[in-house]
Amino acid sequence: MSVRELDRQYLWHPYTQHKIAPAPIPIARAEGAVLIDVDGREIIDAISSWWVTLHGHAQPEIAEAIGRQARLLEQVIFAGMTHEPAAALAAALVEKLPRGLTRVFFSDNGSTAVEVAIKIALQYWQNRGQPRARIAALEHAYHGDTFGAMSASARGLFTEPFGSQLFEVVRLPEQPITDQLAAVIVEPLLQGAGGMRMWSEATLREIRDQTAEKGVLLIADEVLTGFGRTGPLFACEKAGIVPDIICLSKGLTGGFLPLGATAAREEIFEAFLSTDRRHTLFHGHSFTANPIACAAAQASLALLNDASAARRAAIERAHRSHLAKIAAHPCVTAPRVLGTVAAFNLGGVGYLDPVGADLTHFALERGVLLRPLGDVVYVLPPYCTTDAQLDQIYGVITEFLDARG
Ligand code: PLP
Repeated sequence: MSVRELDRQYLWHPYTQHKIAPAPIPIARAEGAVLIDVDGREIIDAISSWWVTLHGHAQPEIAEAIGRQARLLEQVIFAGMTHEPAAALAAALVEKLPRGLTRVFFSDNGSTAVEVAIKIALQYWQNRGQPRARIAALEHAYHGDTFGAMSASARGLFTEPFGSQLFEVVRLPEQPITDQLAAVIVEPLLQGAGGMRMWSEATLREIRDQTAEKGVLLIADEVLTGFGRTGPLFACEKAGIVPDIICLSKGLTGGFLPLGATAAREEIFEAFLSTDRRHTLFHGHSFTANPIACAAAQASLALLNDASAARRAAIERAHRSHLAKIAAHPCVTAPRVLGTVAAFNLGGVGYLDPVGADLTHFALERGVLLRPLGDVVYVLPPYCTTDAQLDQIYGVITEFLDARG
């Protein structure tokens, strides 16, 4: 059977309504910013495959590091054992993270990085003998699809079937930050799945000031914004703040392998040190700190050099110049750019607005992968994307806008 037939018979895809979704495109390989399907057709990946592909697809140094590590040590239990890829990666991360985030806990993906952060925050207060049970999160937030992450996320279409099972959170900015909170969790400067909403450095600094003043932990979910997406390596850095806990995933391995990391300040780690074993962080995953994923992440970090920063700056410039032209179109509202991410709205009815699927279809027929969040169109390309490829992406968007009139 062909990939298409096997897929139709056996697979269940994420975020896909199988009754009405078009058949998925079988991808055979990829290179740089380009996906190549089984028939040899090329498609520019303008969304970094759900925001993970950092430098480019099949990036040779990362592929090499993965092969090397797989032949040496593919996996080992991470309780009672350790290994060089995890230890060296943790050291390299601490070096690059905002100063003071010195302890790294590995998990498997963005949602688990958030779960771990929430559990650390809640147990931190428990271990100190000052239990605080409430987390605060922003309106429009998205932190993942596991239950804790869903609870912190905004209530809406994605969480509706599970509403009664989610824990209550204090919702900012409607409710105040008080000293009863265990932690505040935010997606610094960019709320991704909530509609590529960009928010100000000043507000982030204000939240940092208020949490510090009230003794509340600040969790920065940089699963999307980490590793240069907003320009500097971390969005927190752009605002000049240091959170107490940071969540990382997606681009951590350059987008090659699933890996999550939650890094905390030393004082938080110390609250778990005790002769009382109940103070242990009883959390772990079978594949915690998988050596191959850690090797990929080390190789990816090494690629975040000056050349990468220059490329990111070039992408930002291209976004700005293309958006300046698109902004004149009557359907387009709220054009915005933050580092390598550009977005605008088409004034529809939100996530279920059919315009998103229409644009996806239109763009795919012209060799570009876009996946609007309903009526919110965004371009979030791998860093290797060339100016010519960006021209092509925006050319397709402009053609779509012109066709709609
Ligand atoms: N946090 C943020 C800010 C995200 O954008 C996402 C995914 O889009 C997640 C968490 C969840 O990550 P994952 O899909 O790897 O579970």
